[in-house]
Amino acid sequence: MTAAYAPRRDLVSKVRRRLTQHDAARPATLAFEQPMLSITFDDFPATAANAGARLLERHGARGTYYAAAGMAGAEGPCGAGYSADDIVRLVDAGHEIGCHTSSHADCARRDVFSTLEDLAHNRDALLRMGAPSPRAHAFPYGETSGALKRNLPPRFMSARGILPGLNVGHTDLSQLRAYPLFGPDGMRRVFDALKKAAKRKAWVIGFTHDVSDAPSAWGTRADELDALLQEAHQLGFVVLPVTAALERRLA
Ligand SMILES: [Zn+2]
Repeated sequence: MTAAYAPRRDLVSKVRRRLTQHDAARPATLAFEQPMLSITFDDFPATAANAGARLLERHGARGTYYAAAGMAGAEGPCGAGYSADDIVRLVDAGHEIGCHTSSHADCARRDVFSTLEDLAHNRDALLRMGAPSPRAHAFPYGETSGALKRNLPPRFMSARGILPGLNVGHTDLSQLRAYPLFGPDGMRRVFDALKKAAKRKAWVIGFTHDVSDAPSAWGTRADELDALLQEAHQLGFVVLPVTAALERRLA
């Protein structure tokens, strides 16, 4: 997500988004032994790799970092982007490096072949930085298409969107649901989701960008993330990166 670009909000785009959401390219029935929580960081800013990772690690948890190689080292609306050193430290500490395309383009507005090239380019850049080949993908801006969902490389176990909801029961692994950990009502909604998910043994995915005491409009305050992880612990959640959580699904 960047401040410079916002996906289209016209009626046709809204209808297309709704149809895409119901076009389940990888239907799955998810069930877990315990409620699950994944904390994910998109793009991602250096503060997510530093303050964000340290906070997760203090709770014995690890996160998923959806990296856009084109944003590495670049200054953006959420602060400075990650570095290759951040990737190495995150991998060594057991965090997951996911894919978020290299260009961070709106995947709903370009052809599938260009996006597939972009995904390969991102994988190659992340491999050069010391990450393993990503097994989890997140669509920039949450924007995708039925064609892209059907043609995602099989090396991805999942792709994440930005539509809120619990991942349990009938699920589409090519567009996992996720709650923003930012915005006017963001944290209240994810706390509510945790309570519901605890009862249903569901999987909650949260997504954010920067983590600091004074975050951007797309970032999370460190004390709020801390409170969320405390609440998850109280409610008996297992906190794992996205692919590790998916590997805990009951057959
Ligand atoms: Zn993004």
